[in-house]
Amino acid sequence: MWEAVIGLEIHAQLATRSKIFSGASTAYGAEPNTQACAVDLGLPGVLPVLNKEAVRMAAMFGLAIGANVSRRSVFARKNYFYPDLPKGYQISQFELPIVESGQLDIELGDGSTKTIGVTRAHLEEDAGKSLHEDFQGMTGVDLNRAGTPLLEIVSEPDMRSAKEAVAYMKKIHALVTSLEICDGNMQEGSFRCDANVSVRPKGQEELGTRAELKNINSFRFVERAINIEITRQIDIIESGGKVVQETRLYDSDKNETRSMRSKEEANDYRYFPDPDLLPVEITDEFLKDLKKNLPELPQEKKARFIEQYELKPEDAGVLTASPAHARYYEVLVEASGGEARLAANWVVGTLAAMLNKENRDIANSRVSAGELGLLLNKITDNTISGKIAKEVFEAMWAGEGSADDVIESRGLRQITDSSEIEKIIDDIIAANPEQVEQFRAGKEKVLGFFVGQVMKASSGKANPGQVNQLLRKKLSA
Ligand code: ADP
Ligand code: MG
Repeated sequence: MWEAVIGLEIHAQLATRSKIFSGASTAYGAEPNTQACAVDLGLPGVLPVLNKEAVRMAAMFGLAIGANVSRRSVFARKNYFYPDLPKGYQISQFELPIVESGQLDIELGDGSTKTIGVTRAHLEEDAGKSLHEDFQGMTGVDLNRAGTPLLEIVSEPDMRSAKEAVAYMKKIHALVTSLEICDGNMQEGSFRCDANVSVRPKGQEELGTRAELKNINSFRFVERAINIEITRQIDIIESGGKVVQETRLYDSDKNETRSMRSKEEANDYRYFPDPDLLPVEITDEFLKDLKKNLPELPQEKKARFIEQYELKPEDAGVLTASPAHARYYEVLVEASGGEARLAANWVVGTLAAMLNKENRDIANSRVSAGELGLLLNKITDNTISGKIAKEVFEAMWAGEGSADDVIESRGLRQITDSSEIEKIIDDIIAANPEQVEQFRAGKEKVLGFFVGQVMKASSGKANPGQVNQLLRKKLSA
């Protein structure tokens, strides 16, 4: 009966070396307040100077989503008071953002695609950070983050489920990391999102009242938070109440959303153009040049993978989800001697499962693409079967050494000597006269039973192809 409507505001930290309006470093993890200069501290008498690199990165993003990159954009002051905002205002863009009207396709579960509109993307500075934990009865303020360049990417309310929202967020993540304009590190807060959620009766045109879920920094939490919020809103309406427009916080420990402030308490930011900064003007030439040097985009890479490596679209999608995935895969294909399909199955299957279990990034895989390539070689040259390869892989993952080391030390080399296989087969046939009768009477399925027995007797080491062939021969004899 109900339809959910979702729009996301994603904050991507731009990967510049210095801040958006000062020369202070943006490196993560420094001692508090060691990377905040006079400009970031908001001391009187200083003037901001725009970092051209941030503009270049924002423009690249605009080009990559087919948006209008504004030839003229304007920085505005967003006024509010908070201890981590010493100037009393955040420099952002309001009426004239640098990027407007783009779009991005996401793939849905059924294999179809859906276009999500990107309303705008604007440049702004990040605020500092209040530290509540280390000081009893006091709050610390760390201004290292103040002035860090952000690109706020605002979507149209085009998503209809938590799954779609996550698919969109992953797409944006893949895009900004491929463009190398954001490191995408969600733990460090380089990529985070506010989710706006409302519900309406199916078929109704008008949007329902929305709640905004603030600052969610993992794909899993975004999905959970949105689903909880949808349920909460439907419950309210069905029990006769009204959803109020408010900002809510998602608590991942309790798996619930909580009210932070209502619309009535919302700030009036009194935006006005920042008199310290000139409007940003971008020339056609600058854009033409950027366009020419745009790296391969995830969408293009996916199309190339499907074509060049003959992959299924779903697999190609997974393998181009991040530059690190694509890099791993392409190195693996090379190292495995061009076994593109086998390599794809391994990355999407066994490797992904291991990474997932440890919540580990592919860039930090315990088995490198080169090492895995050597393992795949052992399958293609028949040293081991695909099944045994999984065992070898797990041992490699656990640090037992290279594929060769594990195969030797565990004695996993495949049995390809037909006389040895024949001996096992003879024993199995002798021990199962009833099943032999059945096979000879035309019950083909029994062959599977015999294959299973032989493989078991050889601890999985007999070459499956040979086993099949020899079994048929002997059973029909
Ligand atoms: P604000 O500036 O108050 O955050 P915006 O109008 O800029 O509000 O919208 C912010 C985000 O909220 C956008 O991504 C937009 O798509 C989304 N949004 C707006 N209205 C709704 C709604 N009724 N339901 C869900 N999302 C919405
Ligand atoms: Mg908002």
